[in-house]
Amino acid sequence: MNGIGVSPGISIGKAYLFKKTEISVSGNILENDEDKQIESEKFKKAVSDSIAGIEAFKLNKSFPTDREEIEILETQIEFLSDPQIESDVLDKINNEFKTAGDAVIEVIAAAAQMLRNIEDEYISARASDIQDIGNRILNHLNNNFSAMNLSGKDNIVIAEDISPSDTITFDITKIAGFATILGGKTSHTAIIAKAKGIPAVVGCGAGLAKIEENDTVIIDGSTGEVIIRPDQNTIKSYIEKQKIFAEVNALLKTLKNISPITTDGHKINLYANISSAVDLGQVFENGGEGVGLLRSELLFMGRTSFPNEEEQFQFYKQVAVNSGNNPVVVRTLDIGGDKHLPYFKIPPETNPFLGYRAIRICLDQKEIFITQLKAILRAGIFGKLKIMFPMICNADEVKQAKGCVQEAMEELTTSGIEFDRNTELGIMIEIPSAALMADILAKEVDFFSIGTNDLCQYTLAVDRMNNKISELYTHFNPGVLRLIYNVTEQAHKHKKHVGLCGEMASDPLATLLLLGMGLDEFSMGAASIPAIKNIIIRNSMSDAREVCRKVMKMENSVTITSYLKEVMR
Ligand code: PEP
Ligand code: MG
Repeated sequence: MNGIGVSPGISIGKAYLFKKTEISVSGNILENDEDKQIESEKFKKAVSDSIAGIEAFKLNKSFPTDREEIEILETQIEFLSDPQIESDVLDKINNEFKTAGDAVIEVIAAAAQMLRNIEDEYISARASDIQDIGNRILNHLNNNFSAMNLSGKDNIVIAEDISPSDTITFDITKIAGFATILGGKTSHTAIIAKAKGIPAVVGCGAGLAKIEENDTVIIDGSTGEVIIRPDQNTIKSYIEKQKIFAEVNALLKTLKNISPITTDGHKINLYANISSAVDLGQVFENGGEGVGLLRSELLFMGRTSFPNEEEQFQFYKQVAVNSGNNPVVVRTLDIGGDKHLPYFKIPPETNPFLGYRAIRICLDQKEIFITQLKAILRAGIFGKLKIMFPMICNADEVKQAKGCVQEAMEELTTSGIEFDRNTELGIMIEIPSAALMADILAKEVDFFSIGTNDLCQYTLAVDRMNNKISELYTHFNPGVLRLIYNVTEQAHKHKKHVGLCGEMASDPLATLLLLGMGLDEFSMGAASIPAIKNIIIRNSMSDAREVCRKVMKMENSVTITSYLKEVMR
């Protein structure tokens, strides 16, 4: 059986089936004001007990001082303290006569569903965070806590999905692996497993339910394989693989503090893409030296109105402080297309990906934009924040966006509020016109970051979500490569920094080619950093340039891919 390998490594162990308590709506209706009063108080107490439970857990000495896990729990406290959740639940109790339990289930389910509908893998995975917070409140309302009783050290936890609060009941030292029915690359199971270095496979589908308690199971967190009841020969061969993995991993771990410099002395910036402050721990754990893309959308999701300047400021400040001296590129709001906010309705469009989205919305609705810009500028004094505008297709948009930054600065100055006057401004190059006119755009900004995810889809006219035509969607198409080449060349001609923050940055086959083009920065999911660094430090820039010269003469992606595979062998 195959799922998505999200935390590499091989585990051979016995299945532990982790089942959550079923949660269902009672349908009971409150009768009078006294009931409403009682249910409202019960809800408030459950919320404060949930927060107290998390705080107590954090203080517990046996708690492994793992930064990510603490940050996950702190984010939960923030969500639990969200006045919007409280007012929505109280509204259901007082105006719809629902019990506290039913009101919580409904409010949380609506918020989670809204996130699931978003076709952005990271953001839709955050639905389980919201659901988890709901479960936490319900557990306190119902006085119901399930604990995991594990024996031995080789338990492979088989579950539908695993949430941060589930991990509170885990003795992590007894877990050898995770396999879940649901989940994607950025689900919590993935984040937690990676943080703990425990192999995990998610999104295995319903077939996983065939596993019985104590069955022998092998999981390969690199390939996504799950083998149920393996024979002796299979076990032997996986023990062998386990040894090799341990050796390679030990080697990659030693790279954490090594600078990504080629053998002939070229320093490359290896940064990470994040969507929340929680992700930061992983960045530095994996030897990342900054954030090349902070997708700010998550801050705007899972709520019923735009976050105000202060809320945004607190978020960016937290990221800036936690990043210390390392740079963080904050991308301004990139909604529209497939990312929608329930409180900001965009009328249906024939081609939403070519429609009213990202910078187009921000330049049209300046108040939303300037509020975000002011929050980032203010937070800039606590770290090294840069601002990046998405979906730029012409120079006028850049000029207008810069005008908005100017306006934001003037408003802050008038109000006597401190901010970083030297914040660098950059743009994403993810529309072919921008890539072709990189020479013109380079004069306007401090840096470029190439968004190959969208650049591929717009250059090749291939929807990045459409599985039927996914074979056409490749960053090794010579047309796409010519655009990246041009952007890099023009950026350098104008002495501007150029990075790449699309998925191509984490593709080991692309590393030498991109190095050879002269890219200054690679930004990717944090877990990919060691493997890419390993390629950078083992090769010279002159070899990379040679690879690039050869590839740029090739006529199709198949030839290019097989040549790059040959080079990497
Ligand atoms: C991109 O388009 O390459 C990119 C990094 O942005 P997103 O995936 O958020 O569209
Ligand atoms: Mg994009």
